Amino acid sequence: MIEKTLVLLKPDAVQRGLMGRIISRFEDAGFKVIGAKMVWMDKEFGKKHYFDVAERRGEQVLKVLLEFMTRGPVMAMCVEGINAVENVRKMVGSTEPKSAQPGTIRGDFAHVSYGYADNNGIGIKNLIHASGNVEEAKQEVGLWFKDEELHSYKTVHEIHIRE
Ligand code: ADP
Repeated sequence: MIEKTLVLLKPDAVQRGLMGRIISRFEDAGFKVIGAKMVWMDKEFGKKHYFDVAERRGEQVLKVLLEFMTRGPVMAMCVEGINAVENVRKMVGSTEPKSAQPGTIRGDFAHVSYGYADNNGIGIKNLIHASGNVEEAKQEVGLWFKDEELHSYKTVHEIHIRE
């Protein structure tokens, strides 16, 4: 039930100075950041991370997405908690910020639509990536972090819940 999931604060979140406010949301909900690093990825690495996007969304989406994701560094984090994969996705909101519910990260900090992005040939600037399911989370955490980059410690939430 305790799961690890991969979160990336995308270049738009980093450049807009939203890292702290987004990380705070996960901390406020009691999640534990057990690994974090800033990475300026290249397109080769991006293709490994987004290996299924061309198949699911088409080659053009993968192309504009990789342009977007390599325009600046991302903050990569491994977040741990109870049902972390599903819970973090819930907090992130749906892919298109225009459709993302208020209260979600994408709904509160962005508003762009698929139509706008597609008309302009650009990636959807939706601030954040989070693993889609438990299997994907294992694969993505393994791609981004070495075992020794993940840390084990107690948060006050664990102390209050369990002790
Ligand atoms: P999610 O990140 O919500 O899991 P996907 O894995 O399907 O969504 O897509 C990966 C990323 O590709 C999205 O987060 C978004 O940044 C970008 N993207 C998806 N669809 C489009 C589109 N039609 N036009 C531009 N960018 C897109």
